[in-house]
Amino acid sequence: MAETIRDYFKRRTRLALQLCAVGIALAAIAIALFAFGYLVAGEVGAVIGVAIVCSGLCFLELTRCPRCLSRLSATASSARLSHPINFCPYCGANLDSERPSAAR
Ligand SMILES: [Zn+2]
Repeated sequence: MAETIRDYFKRRTRLALQLCAVGIALAAIAIALFAFGYLVAGEVGAVIGVAIVCSGLCFLELTRCPRCLSRLSATASSARLSHPINFCPYCGANLDSERPSAAR
């Protein structure tokens, strides 16, 4: 069965959350290193961790409707809620319909 637009949003949201979790974990480890006196390693680790968190948020922000290419990060995020948005607010595409294959 082909992937629906909602599945596509869930997949992108999950990947963005995983990226953010890795970044937060790395930043926490870096803060611990900093606290134990490894100043340079702590600083570098914290910067890399924050960069990974920012890349995860940017990845989520760049989620687009596969049909009209409008940015739908809020709609994509709502795919995990109990009452998610069911249609694209710009083109009216049903999010449970099959995702056009051109978009990634
Ligand atoms: Zn749309």
